[in-house]
Amino acid sequence: MPIQVLAPQIANKIAAGEVVERPASVVKELIENAIDAGATDIHIETRQGGRRLIRVGDNGCGIPPAEVGLAFARHSTSKISSEDDLAHITTLGFRGEALASIAAVSQVTMLTRVASEAAGIQLRVEGGEIVRQDSHAANPGTLVSVENLFYNTPARLKFMRSESTESSHVIRLVSAYAIAFPELRFRVLDNGRLVLQTPGNGSLYDVLVKVYGLDIAQQLVEIEAQGPPSAPTDTPPSSEVRAASPEVHVTGYAGAPSLHRSKRSYEMLFVNRRWIQDRSISYAIEEAYRTIIPMGRYPVAVVNISLQPSEVDVNVHPTKREVRFRNPRVVFTAVQRAVRRTVLDQAPVAPMSHGPTVVGAAEWSRQQSVPLGRRALPHRSIGQMAMEIQRTAEIGTPDVSRVPMSEQLPMLRVLGQIRQTYIIAEGPDGLYLIDQHAAHERILFEQLQAEQTAMAVSSQTLLEPLTIDLPTQQRGLLEALSEQLAAFGFDIAPFGGGTCLVRAIPATMISAQVAEAISELLDAARESRDANLAVESTLAVIVCHSAIRAGQTLSQDEARQLIRQLENTKAPYTCPHGRPTMIHLSSAQLEKSFGRR
Ligand code: ADP
Ligand code: MG
Repeated sequence: MPIQVLAPQIANKIAAGEVVERPASVVKELIENAIDAGATDIHIETRQGGRRLIRVGDNGCGIPPAEVGLAFARHSTSKISSEDDLAHITTLGFRGEALASIAAVSQVTMLTRVASEAAGIQLRVEGGEIVRQDSHAANPGTLVSVENLFYNTPARLKFMRSESTESSHVIRLVSAYAIAFPELRFRVLDNGRLVLQTPGNGSLYDVLVKVYGLDIAQQLVEIEAQGPPSAPTDTPPSSEVRAASPEVHVTGYAGAPSLHRSKRSYEMLFVNRRWIQDRSISYAIEEAYRTIIPMGRYPVAVVNISLQPSEVDVNVHPTKREVRFRNPRVVFTAVQRAVRRTVLDQAPVAPMSHGPTVVGAAEWSRQQSVPLGRRALPHRSIGQMAMEIQRTAEIGTPDVSRVPMSEQLPMLRVLGQIRQTYIIAEGPDGLYLIDQHAAHERILFEQLQAEQTAMAVSSQTLLEPLTIDLPTQQRGLLEALSEQLAAFGFDIAPFGGGTCLVRAIPATMISAQVAEAISELLDAARESRDANLAVESTLAVIVCHSAIRAGQTLSQDEARQLIRQLENTKAPYTCPHGRPTMIHLSSAQLEKSFGRR
């Protein structure tokens, strides 16, 4: 085939693929346009997760009649005009391709009016072609309706996930913008149901309460504004001086050490109020929490970095979610320090002095009468756990072999417990150290798995139903999943206003850990292809929040009982997450170590 320039129709479709990945991408571009247009009120409506309809309305400046058609042409923008402007972008949009991209893969109707005009203009664009344009009554502002997304790109349509998954992406996205712009009012209707509404009073905390729910918001601590005061505007520092010491201001909220999640999705990053993704900044936040929250867990944090627009390049990717800092080290350090200081100052941890958190006396005595397999024991404090993790890291892995997977567990004689975490036992060939939490997880896992296969998971009805405040991004999912959760022993019903009522939980589960377990299950479902709960990983989450913890004293009897139960499992050597339940120091290794051989 000879080389030829592609027809604009095809070129637009190709380019659209980069900007419009899913319904949430459309919502993102339309919200950014509304914010750039100076709107104070933005409402978003979706039907069928945005596949059928996405509608974004604003009370911004509107588009003059003569320019409406141009707004849909590729590379047409009112936000920059010269190459120079590209070096310090202060608007969210600037590439002039969002509307063109959206219109290339959907059917768009735009109704827009500038306040000085008597009427508005309505424009209909299908597959990138303007099919109708006429004068129409309208309020000042802009209303964009996007119908049948990907109707002309079947390949993309196939990649769409379930309605509830797409909805939750939209809600998460709007939540991010609501967090970045607390002075704007956002309202989201999903299939006619109000799922998020922010007051627009300028208070970030108020938005966080709406987005994450009061339970989480109350555990968030404001990050003190850091960095030197901004330079007076009449004497702008030379670019060299700025490059050497850019003013980086870090603001936002950081979770107390007690608040941590299994997924990174509770870290929200913004640069000059643009919602971004950046591995290195995420890492800076996680570094700030090192040894404060358990390993493998992620903090909850909302962090905005403000710096001179010239210090950051936002023109890295068509979706504008990646940025490049001129001075990444400085930004990294500023974020890490600000978060670390906030967490330590406001929520001090006293690692060594903390004893195990003791369960209330009533609960404790109730637990004593329950067999070990069903027993909940007190939780170890985060500080303790962090210290232990650190100590383990310092000591390093001992030179002992892990037990081969295929073997049956030999008869073991319990000798005692070390650090309230490991059971020490003697077997026919040497010494065994058993991680009590991992071992109990394995036992409960197989027990629950059998119950689940038999469709007879035993469930405990809570004397007093628990109300849980769900983050907005999880609300729709819970409804979609409540039937599946019922198969695992949960009875959860939506309770309105973002809370849900938990009436029953799996019999093994520790009630104090229900909220966290449910949150982890919903996060996992959100990331799965069809918002389905995978059986194995669901069981793993449940047992993780059911098993006895490290840091709990076990009597000789209890330890023995645990080992007996472990002997009866099919895969005694690993926990359901694949970590070892025990390490083995063989007689031969002992003898070698003592120079007897
Ligand atoms: P960009 O935002 O990068 O400029 P878009 O394709 O998103 O490109 O929009 C093109 C132009 O249409 C914008 O520059 C702006 O002038 C106008 N526009 C789009 N949406 C709105 C809106 N909601 N209110 C006012 N003007 C808008
Ligand atoms: Mg735009």
